[in-house]
Amino acid sequence: MQDFVKILGLKHRREVAGKSAIFSGEHFVLEETDWYLLNLFRLWWHYGISFLRLQMWVEEVMEKFMRIYKYQAHGYAFSSLEELLRSLGGEAFVNMTQRSVAESLLEVGVTQRFVDDVIAAVLRSSYGQSVLVPAFAGAMSLAGAQGSTWAVEGGNKLVCSGLLKLTKANVISARVTGISLHSSEGRALYQVHYESPEGQGSAFYDLVVVTTPLHPSRSNFTFENFDPPIADLPGAFQPSVTSVVHGYLNSSYFGFPDPKLFPFTSILTTDTPDLFFHAMDNVCPVNVSAAFRRKQPQEAAVWRVLSQQPLDKPQLKTLFRSYYSVQVTEWPTYPRYDSAKALPPIVLHENLFYLSGVEWVASSMEMVAVAAKNVALLAYNRWHQELEKIDQKDLMHKVKTEL
Ligand SMILES: Cc1cc2nc3c(=O)[nH]c(=O)nc-3n(C[C@H](O)[C@H](O)[C@H](O)COP(=O)(O)OP(=O)(O)OC[C@H]3O[C@@H](n4cnc5c(N)ncnc54)[C@H](O)[C@@H]3O)c2cc1C
Repeated sequence: MQDFVKILGLKHRREVAGKSAIFSGEHFVLEETDWYLLNLFRLWWHYGISFLRLQMWVEEVMEKFMRIYKYQAHGYAFSSLEELLRSLGGEAFVNMTQRSVAESLLEVGVTQRFVDDVIAAVLRSSYGQSVLVPAFAGAMSLAGAQGSTWAVEGGNKLVCSGLLKLTKANVISARVTGISLHSSEGRALYQVHYESPEGQGSAFYDLVVVTTPLHPSRSNFTFENFDPPIADLPGAFQPSVTSVVHGYLNSSYFGFPDPKLFPFTSILTTDTPDLFFHAMDNVCPVNVSAAFRRKQPQEAAVWRVLSQQPLDKPQLKTLFRSYYSVQVTEWPTYPRYDSAKALPPIVLHENLFYLSGVEWVASSMEMVAVAAKNVALLAYNRWHQELEKIDQKDLMHKVKTEL
């Protein structure tokens, strides 16, 4: 993503300082302060060296994950998610998609209390799920929570529109309804059917990449003439609701009767039954000018509230003293990581590839960008019969010795 931003001449959005806290439904279990050392001391006081163990664990996973950039720079590709993970971190990485993040962290000496208070809060705010999400997805989410994330000035969507323009792709704005298999001179040929307000259409392609989840709730198109047939994949998606509220925070609910004294801009929550939201944060515009300042806590501001169910009026009145507007978006967002165990395939047919399965390893723009490059390299290597560039073992050694 960093490369895309550079290539497109975009900029990172300016960071606006703000403090976070974790709420249990009754009180804050952890509060960030302005002082780095005090924050460290509080973590140590509450949780011993758990946070250091966590940091070491996340860093080790990330260090191994980053090998992918080197492999891809040398043109290597993988025909399955398992092979890709194995090349980065051995069998341990594959296992990290099967066992929970809680189990992995307890094993490296992180305490149950730290898992319940801090890890649970991070995973609720990112994936809307519990500490039972797989360790790999958990590690990605925890890496993001360590403060190194960034956004694009003007909005992340500028990356997508910019790349589309740069590739000079011929974009057909339509909904794909199906893909059928044909053959030409012994080679597979794929007919992609689509419909748009102008009517129905179709076109033939040598190579197709499916970039939306193959689950009925997300894509809703069919495959025809394939033998064996390509069926919908197992697994469900986590329903998630984002409510963007312009209003006055009810700081009393969080134990601050005087709204002027409310110090937090981001509130995470522990996995407490009956707690009706996962997280909320005070959002900044996509363009942050040098003069931009956050609203004072007693002023009306724009808050984003994440929850599993749409918030009803009493719940909105619990979080806000009053509000001007509420915009609600409901979507089947992330994979429900407890609903399927096997990882989806990358190769659906000879030259028909599937990208979105990577979200079952971990769901983020970076993961999808890495997986997209893998599919591009895989398709290229298969087309040109460069089979020595696919699923190679011992790549760390190979890339070190290659010029
Ligand atoms: C609420 C939320 C917050 C997130 N926050 C972050 C974050 O802060 N950082 C981060 O890195 N990631 C975040 N993610 C994850 C990130 O958005 C995804 O990993 C990423 O969008 C996946 O990109 P994609 O192109 O594979 O799929 P998508 O972005 O899902 O794109 C698939 C596209 O296919 C289209 N489509 C579906 N069916 C058809 C069809 N039949 N015909 C034609 N088109 C079709 C869809 O309309 C959609 O535009 C978040 C996700 C959600 C839901």
